[in-house]
Amino acid sequence: MIYLDYQATTPLAPEAREEMLRWLDGPGGSGFGNPHSIHRMGRRAEAAVEVARERVAALFPAGGSVVFTGSATEALNLALRGSEPGRGGKPVAVSAIEHSAVLDTALDLPGDTTILPVDRDALVDPQVALPEGVGIVSVMQVNNEVGTIQPVAELYERAKAHGALFVCDAVQAAGKVPIAEADLIAISAHKFYGPKGIGALWVRDGIELTPQITGGGQEGGLRSGTLSPALCAGMGVAAQLALQAMEEHATHVAKLWDRALELFPGWAVNGSTDHRYKGNFNIRREGLDVSRLISDVREVMFSAGSACASESNKPSRILSAIGLTTEQARGSVRVGFGRYTTLDELERAAELINCAATQQG
Ligand code: PLP
Repeated sequence: MIYLDYQATTPLAPEAREEMLRWLDGPGGSGFGNPHSIHRMGRRAEAAVEVARERVAALFPAGGSVVFTGSATEALNLALRGSEPGRGGKPVAVSAIEHSAVLDTALDLPGDTTILPVDRDALVDPQVALPEGVGIVSVMQVNNEVGTIQPVAELYERAKAHGALFVCDAVQAAGKVPIAEADLIAISAHKFYGPKGIGALWVRDGIELTPQITGGGQEGGLRSGTLSPALCAGMGVAAQLALQAMEEHATHVAKLWDRALELFPGWAVNGSTDHRYKGNFNIRREGLDVSRLISDVREVMFSAGSACASESNKPSRILSAIGLTTEQARGSVRVGFGRYTTLDELERAAELINCAATQQG
C-alpha cells in the first residue's frame, strides 16, 4: 500500500510512539498515573504533561500559552464560542475555504457571519473588506484541500486595526511552516506525526475565554477532563521533531512536488503553486470520475478532497469557492505526501493513477 493522504492524517512517528508507551504502563508500571493526582505517580505524569506543553509551545509565536484539547475541532470551538466577541454576538468574518470546524461553528454563533471570498488561486485578498464592527476574523494558514498559504500576517494586522480577534486554524501548517502571529491558534497532533485524539489551542496572553466544557477545572479551568499523559507526550515529541526537521522536511516535499509535476502531465494544479505548502498536490483532469478512480487504484491511498467531506459525494465546497465547475471539482484528486514518502512510491502511484485515468477515456 502507498500512503499519499498526508492531509487527512500522518503516520505516528516511531519516536512519538516510543515516548507514549512510557505513559501507557499497565499494572506494576509507574507511568499510568493521573496527572492531576498529587502523589508521586501523579506528579511524574504531570511533569511529562508539562514537558510536552513546552515542546508544543515552541511551535507557536512567543507571548501565549497552550491549552490541550481533544482535537483541533474542539480547540476551534473553544476559540470561537468561548471568546468575548463570539459569545457577545459581534459580526464574524471567515474565509470561504475554512474547514467546517471553523465555518459551521462561526455560522452557529449569535452574530452575523460574513464569508470572505477567495480568488482562483485559493487565496484571500489581504485587503478584503471586513464587515462593520467585526469582532472575530478567522482565516486558516494552510488550506487542507489545496495547500495554499494565506496572507495571515497581513490579515492579523487588519483584524487588529478593526479591534477584532484573529483566530487561525494552523492545523495543516503546524510543524511544516512557521506558525504565523494570531490571537488564538488551533493545531492537531495527528497532522504532524503525533497521535490522534489530541489538539491544542494557543491563547495569546491577556485573552479571556469562557470554557465550553465544565467539570474538574483542568487546563486552568478552560478545558475540564483528565489529560492523557501518553497523548500529550506523543504530541510533544512530534512537535519537537517537526520543529527540528522543518527545513529538511520542506526540501523533501519540494523535491517530491517537482517530480510530481513531471509525473502527471495533462493534469492541472488546483490553487496557487507559489503560495503553497508543497506536500499538497491537488490536481484535476477533464472528464475524470474521481470516485471511480479511487476505487480502481486500490493500492494507493489518496483522496478526492478532505476526508470528512468525502462521503457526501457533493463537489468540494473549497474547489467550488475557487471557481471550478462541478465537473472540474469532480475530476480533482489530492495527492498528499510527507516525511516518509519516497520517490519510488510517488512514481509507482503516478503510474497506477495515470493508467486508471487513461482507461476512463
Ligand atoms: N482544520 C483543518 C484545516 C483540518 O485539516 C482538520 C482536519 O482534517 C481540522 C481542522 C480538524 O482537526 P481535528 O481532526 O483535530 O479535529
